[in-house]
Amino acid sequence: MTSAYPNLLAPLDLGFTTLRNRTLMGSMHTGLEDKAKDFPKLAAYFAERAKGGVGLMVTGGFAPNREGWLSPFGSKLSSPREVKKHLQVTDAVHAEGGKICLQILHAGRYGYSPLCVSASNIKSPISPFKPRALSTKGVYRTIKDYINCAALAQKAGYDGVEVMGSEGYFINQFLVTKTNKRTDEWGGSYDNRMRLPVEIVKGIRQAVGKNFIIIYRLSMLDLVEQGSSWDEVVQLGKAIEAAGATIINTGIGWHEARVPTIATSVPRGAFAWVTEKMRKEVSIPVIATNRINTPETAETIIANKEADMVSMARPFLADPDFVNKAAANKAESINTCIGCNQACLDHTFSMQRSTCLVNPRACYETERIIVPTTAPKRVAVVGAGPAGLSAACVLGERGHDVALFDKAAEIGGQFNIAKRIPGKEEFYETIRYYNNKLVECGVTLKLNTLASVDSLIEAGYDEIVLSTGVVPRELEIEGAERPNVLGYTEAVMHPERVGQRVAIIGAGGIGFDVAELLVHEGVASSLDINQFNTDWGVDTSYSNRGAYTQPNPHPAARQVTLLQRKTTKLGKGLGKTTGWIHRAALMMKNVRMVGGAEYDKVDDLGLHYKLQNGESKLIECDTVVVCAGQKSNRTLFNDLKDKGVPIYLIGGSQLAGELDAKRAILEGFELAARI
Ligand code: FAD
Ligand code: NAP
Ligand code: SF4
Repeated sequence: MTSAYPNLLAPLDLGFTTLRNRTLMGSMHTGLEDKAKDFPKLAAYFAERAKGGVGLMVTGGFAPNREGWLSPFGSKLSSPREVKKHLQVTDAVHAEGGKICLQILHAGRYGYSPLCVSASNIKSPISPFKPRALSTKGVYRTIKDYINCAALAQKAGYDGVEVMGSEGYFINQFLVTKTNKRTDEWGGSYDNRMRLPVEIVKGIRQAVGKNFIIIYRLSMLDLVEQGSSWDEVVQLGKAIEAAGATIINTGIGWHEARVPTIATSVPRGAFAWVTEKMRKEVSIPVIATNRINTPETAETIIANKEADMVSMARPFLADPDFVNKAAANKAESINTCIGCNQACLDHTFSMQRSTCLVNPRACYETERIIVPTTAPKRVAVVGAGPAGLSAACVLGERGHDVALFDKAAEIGGQFNIAKRIPGKEEFYETIRYYNNKLVECGVTLKLNTLASVDSLIEAGYDEIVLSTGVVPRELEIEGAERPNVLGYTEAVMHPERVGQRVAIIGAGGIGFDVAELLVHEGVASSLDINQFNTDWGVDTSYSNRGAYTQPNPHPAARQVTLLQRKTTKLGKGLGKTTGWIHRAALMMKNVRMVGGAEYDKVDDLGLHYKLQNGESKLIECDTVVVCAGQKSNRTLFNDLKDKGVPIYLIGGSQLAGELDAKRAILEGFELAARI
């Protein structure tokens, strides 16, 4: 069979060892690294990905000492006592033919811990703790701790280590004058500032010998003012190679940068250009990263010689079999990461275990298990939105005889609306994945079919799962029935019906998305790398330090006002790691945000409302779009509940409040796993 991805799947000879292909599973903190009792789960998680064919994996970050903790009592490898638990991980990975490196991550001033240290005592905007400036001796001690950590990783059976030198962590903090004000041999000139990572890599190489992988994650784009210049990045890259690194990985953006770097609104492969630039400067392999989520994108990057390997992190949460499916030329079966961050990074930042919106088994491999049924049943699933799709596939996979109904002409439910929002185009991929998965699981799909009580009872199903979703909440004010008042579905599906001046009632996730669509219409920077760079200020000429320049957003397509009744900040409930992007994107397009509004009426002039102090206001507009939340669609449930057939409710039809696709898919999975 001819491979569709010959470059991606070609082995990579590192001299002393060969990687089976060019894929790297990038480091992700899952929350399983922090406690010894969770290591069997961590081992199962990595083993599943090794079995799925990944070339090389990197663990979440482990601090080389307590000062380097991400959070108190977080993951650390500094004592021989901590080695044993890691053997479970390395043994499990090697048993599946995989290779794995341990990431050494010193958080520096990003540490959420009172013990945190940095080059200087300058607080970061993302941690409440002011770091202590390390003494000169302290720097030497820290280098020893890195070396010790690498030696312990070698004892623990790892194939190598990755030294985290980017994303604004400890090493990055030494590199730039913004955070390094030292006057000793670790500050001042660039030679002094870059000595820390060079000494770390040199020391590690000396301690571990020739046959051990050392990946160095080099901050190629800081994306902050006063970041490194390109010349400095190149100087460091060359010095890191000379110090004994095996591979250079790409780091993009400090965590405090105001440029999105991994959200779904970032175009695929948006930062490969900088890896390509670095590849010309060094002779060891380089890895491209960030928003590479399909084998096609990965193959193109390698084929174009932009990089020697590609790093994908979240795509392996979404689908552990990504590589095997690509190798079998079954890319259409890959469960693609949609870059939402809702179940991975948002969980990490709220101290929850990571998982994946589209794959609830991720990081729960030993707990969320799909077991074949011993008593196959005939099951009807009504509603092919995320909840129903997830339930139908798991039921089918377990051996039940499943019929899935939807009154619409295509599967996907509200994802068919979501996928039209600029920056959410990836939602198409989930629908494509389920279209294939339904066939693989033997589910009988009945589209354009409104399931009714009579049809379901007549067919004699053993069990009925209702995933009929939600209906939009209607506005109950004077003028709500006027033709210039549209629901969000109509506004998204037919933006040509929306006028030039718009008021949006409701500033939840959907209100923000509708605003995004209406101001971005015709220009989706999520699909166009040049537009993205201009919109957000990424300076590809690198004439500015940190490759960061003034954002220059494309003018808004419409004049939009977003309103809510609450007096809290608009967008407060949006995703922890993506909410700021939505807010910033709308601010850049001059969207007006109004809180504390009491809606009065809609008329020819526009939307009338009152402020908290009773003052009457008018937003002159052509169209009012209603995004005022939703109610469960329980019509069928109410009519079916007394008919003697076991009925289950999942997703929006179970509970409309706080509904998102993460909950819908998980509920579908959990119900189907136990029927
Ligand atoms: P639905 O998706 O509403 O599916 C219900 C299905 O049931 C529909 O296809 C309907 O046709 C069918 N149906 C109803 N009654 C019958 C019947 N009697 N017979 C046959 N079929 C029937 N969520 C996120 O997590 N992240 C996001 O970024 C996100 N963005 C969004 C953006 C927009 C613009 C919108 C509108 C939604 C977004 N959501 C997002 C929400 C997400 O889409 C929903 O939470 C999810 O779709 C709910 O899934 P569900 O299966 O419960 O219901
Ligand atoms: P939502 O987040 O609950 O927001 C509903 C909005 O309507 C709120 O701003 C609310 O604010 C307002 N509202 C509620 N009742 C109203 C009424 N009677 N009259 C006028 N305004 C009213 O719901 P949603 O925006 O419809 O989104 C639905 C679900 O999809 C959400 O739960 C969300 O998780 C998911 N989603 C997620 C994303 C994402 O990026 N993660 C994006 C889109 C959707 P006030 O009460 O203050 O007016
Ligand atoms: Fe990707 Fe979203 Fe899953 Fe995270 S939760 S891995 S971003 S699909």
